[in-house]
Amino acid sequence: MGKLEDRYGRVATDLRVSLTDKCNLRCTYCMPAEGLDWMPLEQQLTDDEVVRLVGVAVEHLGVREVRFTGGEPLVRRGLVDIVARSHALGVETSLTTNGLGLARTAPALAAAGLDRVNVSLDSVRADTFHQLTRRDRLDDVVAGLAAASDAGLGPVKVNAVLMRGVNDDQAVELLAWCLERGYELRFIEQMPLDAQHGWSRDGMITADEILAQLETAFVLTPAVEPRGSAPAELFLVDGGPATVGVIASVTRPFCGDCDRVRLTADGQVRTCLFAREESDLRAALRAGASDAELAERWMVAMRGKAAGHGIDDPTFLQPDRPMSAIGG
Ligand code: SAM
Ligand code: SF4
Repeated sequence: MGKLEDRYGRVATDLRVSLTDKCNLRCTYCMPAEGLDWMPLEQQLTDDEVVRLVGVAVEHLGVREVRFTGGEPLVRRGLVDIVARSHALGVETSLTTNGLGLARTAPALAAAGLDRVNVSLDSVRADTFHQLTRRDRLDDVVAGLAAASDAGLGPVKVNAVLMRGVNDDQAVELLAWCLERGYELRFIEQMPLDAQHGWSRDGMITADEILAQLETAFVLTPAVEPRGSAPAELFLVDGGPATVGVIASVTRPFCGDCDRVRLTADGQVRTCLFAREESDLRAALRAGASDAELAERWMVAMRGKAAGHGIDDPTFLQPDRPMSAIGG
């Protein structure tokens, strides 16, 4: 068995697989209102190709967890089958989703062996939700969360991004809402990954601001468990056991502990969200490479992983692919 080790000794065991770059929401921090030029279908890996590469990662490279994402993974028709076949490889599987349609598919996903879901929800106010996602679908997300919880896809996690002047006054309300329903909330700092290049260091809401706001209503104490490679810094809320997390990718980067690697919907290995280079597994796969050859190519790609994302560096350049095409 090989492993996905980089030049700095970090070993990737957590694979993020993007199943599509398409989405049915238009979150302002992710996509422009008109959407993007979607990837031509022939460039996208087929269901069999996705499962083959997941198999290479699990059986040859020591990957222990596979998280399906996108774009919106629930719009991928073969999702349940891909989950079932990945689960059969003996790997943990999870899904990051905007929750639209989850009310309908949660039972099938659970039956296919999916372990957990993360659902993105930035506001529980219908007008703010609409402003952020440009769609009037809050009720669908709320129903999707409940269905995921009922189907046993827990602990159900909620991901939220705060945007200045839009929902940055709603951290307390969002946490109270999640606590009431037993969902684990994690705030993610906004990163420079939107296609419209709308991010700015001064405009983003920092982890410190989020924590200060939460502390007006809750007592937060650092959770005792070591953070390890988990990106979220966890806090006990009012003594626990409930927790809230903050993923401070920008202001408190955790690159030194990173255990991730990404596969895009068109079969490119990316060693980081912010990588400027990719390694083409799809071409090798379609040219007839064996599993061992694909694994070797993947290991070589890992050696190019940078030490850190360098967002704060003056020479930082945003990656060419937006978040929705990389897989968040
Ligand atoms: N469509 C699914 C969803 O929204 O959960 C999966 C893909 S989405 C790209 C994955 C996660 O990335 C979501 O939680 C979303 O909020 C987050 N995200 C998207 N753009 C972001 C940005 N510019 N900065 C920080 N997080 C972002
Ligand atoms: Fe779609 Fe997720 Fe991007 Fe929102 S964050 S536009 S739901 S891919």
